[in-house]
Amino acid sequence: MTKTQEQTIEREPMNRDFYKLFINGEQVESDNGERTKIYNPATGKVIAEVAKASKKDAEKAIQAARNAFDHGKWKLTPPGRRARVLNKIAEIMGSRFKELVELEILNTGKSLAAAKGQIAQAIEDFEFYAGAIVGHGGTVNNVPGQFHNYTEKEPVGVCAQIIPWNYPLMMAAWKIAPAIAAGCSVVLKPASLTPLTAIVLGEICHEAGVPEGVVNVIPGSGSEIGNYLVEHELVNKVAFTGSTPIGKDIMGKASATLKRVTLELGGKSPNLVFEDADIDAAVDGSLYGIYNNTGQSCDARSRLYIHEDVYDEFIEKFIAKTEKIQIGDPFDKGTHMGAIIDQTQLDTIKGYVQFAIDEGAEILTGGKVLKPEGFEDGFWYAPTVIGNVTQEMKVVQEEIFGPVVVVSKFKNEKEAIALANDSEYGLASSIWSTNGARATRVANQIQAGIVMINCPFSAFPGTPFGGYKQSGFGRELSKETLDLYSETKSIMSYFGSRPINPFGI
Ligand code: NAD
Ligand code: MN
Repeated sequence: MTKTQEQTIEREPMNRDFYKLFINGEQVESDNGERTKIYNPATGKVIAEVAKASKKDAEKAIQAARNAFDHGKWKLTPPGRRARVLNKIAEIMGSRFKELVELEILNTGKSLAAAKGQIAQAIEDFEFYAGAIVGHGGTVNNVPGQFHNYTEKEPVGVCAQIIPWNYPLMMAAWKIAPAIAAGCSVVLKPASLTPLTAIVLGEICHEAGVPEGVVNVIPGSGSEIGNYLVEHELVNKVAFTGSTPIGKDIMGKASATLKRVTLELGGKSPNLVFEDADIDAAVDGSLYGIYNNTGQSCDARSRLYIHEDVYDEFIEKFIAKTEKIQIGDPFDKGTHMGAIIDQTQLDTIKGYVQFAIDEGAEILTGGKVLKPEGFEDGFWYAPTVIGNVTQEMKVVQEEIFGPVVVVSKFKNEKEAIALANDSEYGLASSIWSTNGARATRVANQIQAGIVMINCPFSAFPGTPFGGYKQSGFGRELSKETLDLYSETKSIMSYFGSRPINPFGI
């Protein structure tokens, strides 16, 4: 976009006192006028109010999405044209990058570096799907002579998308981008604590040319609005990211109408450091693996298993660097770790650490609430390493969702694999070894949707993201995601010169 064009667009500032629902291409108040206060977790202060969707608003959003899907032009728009709109969304997000980053930080207390990385990725997600949708299509299949068969990919319909608070904009992008690329309509319900950037994204989609009703964003209560979407008969699919118990509840309820369901749930991802690892690289990658996003990541590598020969060296270095992690002003470039999302989550973390102590584990560093200067009313927890743990302990089996890692030793490859797989979850995993054959062998035996070898990052746009076991099913962020927003239609025809008369009547 040229400068002059940009100047002619009248936009509201992203950072506002009050955010409305986004339904059918319009910003609207909630039906009953209810509002929710939104806090900055770094300061504990109210930063804005948001309209709180009622069931009536949810109904309105579903009707808008249904109408757009059944009678609108979006699904009939050629993929290349839809791609152009997705690229436009990315372009507008890019031109407002700084504002988006600021808003995300204000609403989550996450560090500047984390927010920048996540929003850059959200932009690339739209670009990725803009490319991928153009190559997404059906197949021609082998059938007996004089028959012809081909398949079409058709958008699945109206999608309810329910997302958590840990990556508000990135999760919204993971959901909206593939759905609209495929031609679906969506009703997105952001997490109650963090709806701001998702609402703005809805507005940006509209500005970029997504027709009204195709993207609707309705912040509101999970048990009320989320549930309403899940049970509604006009909704064809539910895509959920959040905790495993809610995921199970959703899957059960969606069965009444046989909605398509994809679930991205919790994790307790193992991190294996072998005796032949580059120890310094393993230390640095493992720090990121657990403390990125203040440990509030589904893919947090929260179980650290270290070969006994290198345990002491690794732990000494890991703790020394853990104690160097800068915590405080999220907008400060030097800050490594931001705030915890709210008091409830902080209490959960405190509770887990106390459990560990009660069960006989040892706090090697951290284990306490922090009050960084100038941010005393926010929610902060020290990066924490817990040693002397056994597999049965709660802190080893359950997802804490905070900057807390448990560490223990293993003797050999077989034991490492057994420990890694001793979990009801199976989202991510890391392997640190300079022996390529070993790393590959171990990767093949780990029960997880994502394996990282000598690498701290779990995903880039284009790489499938999702879990095994109770971490859910379905994959996001990749080409196959488009299949999960599509139905496959098989079209069979006969071109023989003689009529077919199977009954011979
Ligand atoms: P949550 O399950 O409490 O809430 C997630 C979303 O579901 C929110 O929008 C919430 O309002 C809504 N919700 C709550 N109850 C509902 C109901 N009965 N019906 C429908 N919707 C309902 O999760 P959270 O506390 O926001 O986020 C933390 C969890 O999310 C962690 O377990 C984490 O592992 C998981 N997570 C998973 C991934 C992944 O990709 N696998 C990514 C991020 C977070
Ligand atoms: Mn929750």
